[in-house]
Amino acid sequence: LVSRDNHPERSTVRVGGVPIGPGTVTLIAGPCAVETPQQTLEAAEMAKAAGATLLRGGAYKPRTSPYAFQGLGEAGLRILADVREQTGLPVVTEVVDAHDVELVASYADMLQVGTRNAQNFALLQAVGGIGKPVMLKRGMNATIEEWLMAAEYIAQRGNLDIVLCERGIRTFETATRNTLDVSAVPVAQRLSHLPVIVDPSHSGGRRDLVLPLTRAAIAVGADGVIIDVHPNPEQALCDGPQALVDDDLRELARVMRDFPPLV
Ligand code: PEP
Repeated sequence: LVSRDNHPERSTVRVGGVPIGPGTVTLIAGPCAVETPQQTLEAAEMAKAAGATLLRGGAYKPRTSPYAFQGLGEAGLRILADVREQTGLPVVTEVVDAHDVELVASYADMLQVGTRNAQNFALLQAVGGIGKPVMLKRGMNATIEEWLMAAEYIAQRGNLDIVLCERGIRTFETATRNTLDVSAVPVAQRLSHLPVIVDPSHSGGRRDLVLPLTRAAIAVGADGVIIDVHPNPEQALCDGPQALVDDDLRELARVMRDFPPLV
């Protein structure tokens, strides 16, 4: 269903009216985690001012450590919905448990399945049946074939509004959190008709790498990028070291504008 063999034209997925697909490079930005109404609104305003057309933000955080901030849950979803009301930005947010899909979908414009759940087949089937666009991150240990098969689980439930997101894979390299596999972008685009975006924030794990990795993503033809921003990264409850602030995000958006998309 997601193969390009039976569907030669590349697809465009619309999220609250915003297109992700060939001919555009969509900027999705927002806080890694929803922490407070004010932090989320400030991050969203920064994102919007820079030119982002979709707001990201996690209410359910799949953290490596059980002692790390796990997200605000439904309270976080309510904050995202309020901020959408105030900014007009449609909301992309992660769902980590099949039992929460209906609840998260009632607030979100697009559901995100993260790297740690990329082969959670019950979750993939649940998001496939809920009637909202889905962003499927690549599992950090998944081959491109496994990633596309994961997308197939969603598609099989009748949902072809799927955006693939390359977010770095595990390699022997420890200088970056994960290794951004830039070749995955054109490879996945050739094998599948689905749009492919890149997450330079979670792959590098470092603020200074976000712009160079964004340039790389656009150069290989990514259909968009998803970027962490925070009004005060030193105080962030999650992934502060990779969050951009105002000026960095504006610079990144400028670079994106100057770089015409490959069609
Ligand atoms: C995220 O985008 O908030 C996230 C946790 O990403 P990943 O699943 O790629 O680690």
